Amino acid sequence: MPTKSIKCIVCNKTFFEGQGVKLVLGGRELYFHSKSCALKFFKSMVLYLDQKDLERAVVSTLKEFEQRIKELEERSKKHIETIH
Ligand SMILES: [Zn+2]
Repeated sequence: MPTKSIKCIVCNKTFFEGQGVKLVLGGRELYFHSKSCALKFFKSMVLYLDQKDLERAVVSTLKEFEQRIKELEERSKKHIETIH
């Protein structure tokens, strides 16, 4: 089966389906050859967002990861308690 070749939208490098990073954002499929190109795209994209929306998005995302870290910490605490 021939593999489809795709071009990175940030650096124009060609790669093949199954490699790289694919994201669906705003109803569009975006392809990046590497995580660093995806990050570059994101950094530019946030500049075009409404600052109020961006603030809210940052707060929500921070909360999400803080919650995740808390869960991980609680899980490791429980793990230690069961060992002793
Ligand atoms: Zn790239």
